[in-house]
Amino acid sequence: MQYTEIMVRYGELSTKGHNKKTFIDRLGANVRKALHSFVQVKVHAQRDRLHVELNGADYDSVMERLKLVFGIQNFSPSIKVEKSFEATAQAATQMIKEQVDKPITFKVETRRSDHHFAMDTFEMNNKLGGYLLDKFPNKLKVDVHHPDLTLRVEIRLNGIFLSSETIKGAGGLPVGTAGKGMMMMSGGIDSPVAAYLGMKRGVSMEMVHFFSPPYTSPQALAKAKQLTERLAKYSGSIKFIQVPFAEIQETVKEKVPEGYLMTIQRRMMLRLAAALMIKRHGLAIFNGESLGQVASQTMESMLAINDVTSYPVLRPVLSFDKTEIIKIAQDIDTYELSILPYEDCCTVFTPPSPKTRPNVDRAREYEKRLDVEGLMQRALDGIEITEVHPGDDYLNQNEDVFAELL
Ligand code: ATP
Ligand code: MG
Repeated sequence: MQYTEIMVRYGELSTKGHNKKTFIDRLGANVRKALHSFVQVKVHAQRDRLHVELNGADYDSVMERLKLVFGIQNFSPSIKVEKSFEATAQAATQMIKEQVDKPITFKVETRRSDHHFAMDTFEMNNKLGGYLLDKFPNKLKVDVHHPDLTLRVEIRLNGIFLSSETIKGAGGLPVGTAGKGMMMMSGGIDSPVAAYLGMKRGVSMEMVHFFSPPYTSPQALAKAKQLTERLAKYSGSIKFIQVPFAEIQETVKEKVPEGYLMTIQRRMMLRLAAALMIKRHGLAIFNGESLGQVASQTMESMLAINDVTSYPVLRPVLSFDKTEIIKIAQDIDTYELSILPYEDCCTVFTPPSPKTRPNVDRAREYEKRLDVEGLMQRALDGIEITEVHPGDDYLNQNEDVFAELL
């Protein structure tokens, strides 16, 4: 079938009152970005629907991209015909011919926004339904309640549009409508899932990644960037901010009792994330903590760590079990990367038995042994920012470099 457009239906955003226009404009921009490599495609974001005019582009590839855009409830590949019953009936016949190879039940469902069109929705349903029954007496039977196939007909000012398939979209809200978040992105399983869930609710993420050369390898860094690439598919591109963390970890290890190493390291991470958030006009910090999962993720630990900032620290996977997080990681294609065995800055410096119930006052006390300001300043002076695009390759690129060295 040579479809002429994909008709896109909005989800939750259709109910957003006066913010609606902002949401629709943003969704339009995000869809254009997702489809920018299809030069002939035109996107029209209207009040009730978004129309992707194909102009000959391959509709399967276009739909694959649309599936990743948040804010879309569902969409239908559609064919546009001139405004006459004959043209509609002819296209409908073609659709049934191509799509139906065994007996099924069906119904015709018409919507009409052009009220000057000669037939109303009732007439179109009946006449077209009857016409198709005559054409395909052995294939089609009408069932208005639970049909196998619903043939949708939309009579609009600029033409009549037919579709028979409705494909589920990614749901959520368009990325960017909620503002910017700073995602504390490790190379683990949980933070990419947390990032995905935040993005799904409209947050435009910037990744903050702490790395500790020479204790951590270039592959560990490449892995975090590659995970970012997986997530960039949902938003076009993502800024990846790498923050050198070795000096802080060495100093903390030297000056702080072992039981508090982890708490103080985490306090430093959070402080740095907060500093970056202010500088880059973010509205919240995100992390991948899940309650009770490990020592640093008890409520006592969160209290002792969160003490360093009054900005919101949002934890999208807080109440999920590990198996639930893994399921999402598999669905969004981050799991296989996350389990690659490259050491992370925390594993290297994690004491054998960190305190599961650290005390805030003690943490503050031990921290006085550090030059917090100086350590932070040097880390912030050393940041590097990479714009990560979908399709970028960091891991294999690295392998080549290593291969050359050998
Ligand atoms: P993850 O799978 O996301 O690494 P985790 O269960 O392994 O989570 P931790 O490693 O203790 O838990 O980290 C808790 C959270 O702290 C992470 O989800 C992430 O948001 C943040 N974090 C940990 N390490 C780093 C890092 N190197 N850079 C940035 N953020 C980090
Ligand atoms: Mg981790």
